[in-house]
Amino acid sequence: MEIVIASGKGGVGKSTLTGSLITLLKDYVIAAVDADAEAPNLHLIFNVDRWEEEREVIAAHSARINESCINCGICDNVCIYEAIYEADGQRKIKEYLCEGCGACRAVCPVEGAIEIFPSVSGWIRIANTSYGPLVSAELDVGKPNSGKLVTEEKNIAKNWVKEGRAKHVIVDAAAGIGCQVIASLSGANKAILVAEPTPSSLSDLMRAYGLTQHFRIEAFLVINKYGINPGYDGLERFSRENGVEIIGRIPYHSSVPKSLASMKPLVEFAPNSPPAKEIKKIAEIVEGWL
Ligand code: SF4
Ligand code: SF4
Repeated sequence: MEIVIASGKGGVGKSTLTGSLITLLKDYVIAAVDADAEAPNLHLIFNVDRWEEEREVIAAHSARINESCINCGICDNVCIYEAIYEADGQRKIKEYLCEGCGACRAVCPVEGAIEIFPSVSGWIRIANTSYGPLVSAELDVGKPNSGKLVTEEKNIAKNWVKEGRAKHVIVDAAAGIGCQVIASLSGANKAILVAEPTPSSLSDLMRAYGLTQHFRIEAFLVINKYGINPGYDGLERFSRENGVEIIGRIPYHSSVPKSLASMKPLVEFAPNSPPAKEIKKIAEIVEGWL
């Protein structure tokens, strides 16, 4: 079983829910995939202090200007990322801004003055936590191809299932509906969409739900910070109109930020708090899927 926890928007409590679900269901041997390569945080919730394995992923390209450059400046005009600059009478490239598109090389009058080379797009890291194996990714500053990183993470987790190191996979997707989220959802069995009771969160939820429909993934809804907007019923209406079952209504509580600050899953930090009790009910539903 591969379950993705997603939302159209960041900061709605996905990682809190993911960390607590994996904690409660650890007897089912779940591989955790932190698929938010721009801001990974599951390792913080699981208090990982040592990576078992860490490796670079070469999935990007960068440009380099060599000494045959005549400093004509023609390349400046085609770099829409403004990665090319002049210093000490020489053209240079800021690697963190360069997308490796090759436009500068195409217009350069000096053959071979600009080289395009494969570069590090990020890192994949693996840890053995008290709650099961974790694979995490981190994108290098300014680098694209985050979808590739997520696909690689998921392949690692799927191999763990094949090898018997894990039995199920739970993916904590990035916010939004970009390539990281598309890669997270691709091939998943079920999606839990997390939203807050506000019109803007509903709008983001609808976009994330559209992706699950594209991939024909059965979607469920968890309302986080339930009760912060009394009288607002947009999420319930969305649920009714689209046949998306609401499997949890997690109330806002001060224990949530405190658990994050303590680097502990909420259900361990404050097991009797109202949100932890609601997450336990959600875990019982998820348990029925495993
Ligand atoms: S176009 Fe080529 S030769 Fe001209 S400044 Fe750029 S790298 Fe140098
Ligand atoms: S490869 Fe593209 S992004 Fe990089 S410096 Fe050249 S034009 Fe700019």
